[in-house]
Amino acid sequence: MNKYLKNLNRIEFVVTMACTGKCKHCSQGEHKSNDRIDKALASDAVRKIAKEYNIKSVMTFGGEPLLCCETVCEIHKAAREMSIPQRQLITNGYFSKDYDEIKNVAQKIIKSGVNEILLSVDAFHQETIPLEYVKAFADAVNVHGVKLQVHPAWLVSSDDDNPYNDKTREILSEFNHTGIETSKGNVIFPSGNAIKYLGEYFNLKKEIKNPYQEDPADIRAICLSANGYILGGNIYKQDIIDILDSYTPYTLINSKP
Ligand code: SF4
Repeated sequence: MNKYLKNLNRIEFVVTMACTGKCKHCSQGEHKSNDRIDKALASDAVRKIAKEYNIKSVMTFGGEPLLCCETVCEIHKAAREMSIPQRQLITNGYFSKDYDEIKNVAQKIIKSGVNEILLSVDAFHQETIPLEYVKAFADAVNVHGVKLQVHPAWLVSSDDDNPYNDKTREILSEFNHTGIETSKGNVIFPSGNAIKYLGEYFNLKKEIKNPYQEDPADIRAICLSANGYILGGNIYKQDIIDILDSYTPYTLINSKP
């Protein structure tokens, strides 16, 4: 086991960079890439990593991950098979306008073992994503055994008064009325589109620490990109265990995704 990864307990997958939203707070920018991770390599990575490390959580997100439903399902099936307890999906809930297809996808992901769904709804997502389809998806996955929460992005902080947060509170209440709770959500970090469209809300002269940044000498969560990149290596070219074994804190300085 690599000493810099001894506390590794979480694997995240950017399943695809393709997205149905065009959010002005998106940290990934304009989503020009349509990369999607190979489902066999991704699920194989879960099995191999879980054999060597004490993985407690697997998370799939994107882009919009349910544009690649089969990949999401394969990843979570592998996680369940390896007895990884938390199997989480973050989705904007909008991948189809066909209500039968929405139900069909919902059933598939529940069957695959997803047990936690964070539904990204807020003022930013709903500028381009119609709520009616998101609500149909929420109804279809709101079943026993799945922890479903709405998961907003807050501007400045969750209690700041600004027009975006006001709109977000309004949208969340539509879900809360049906018994769906709100997660802690996240506070928008100034990167990608957020700098471009919401710059006036940030003090860009002051250095803001990215809350998602890992300590390179004590990595606890790894995130595989849609193009297979991870910790200076790529699962399309190397075995995932070789990548993890050869990692040092200097790897990241010398490599680019
Ligand atoms: S914030 Fe999420 S839903 Fe919106 S464009 Fe970015 S990845 Fe897509």
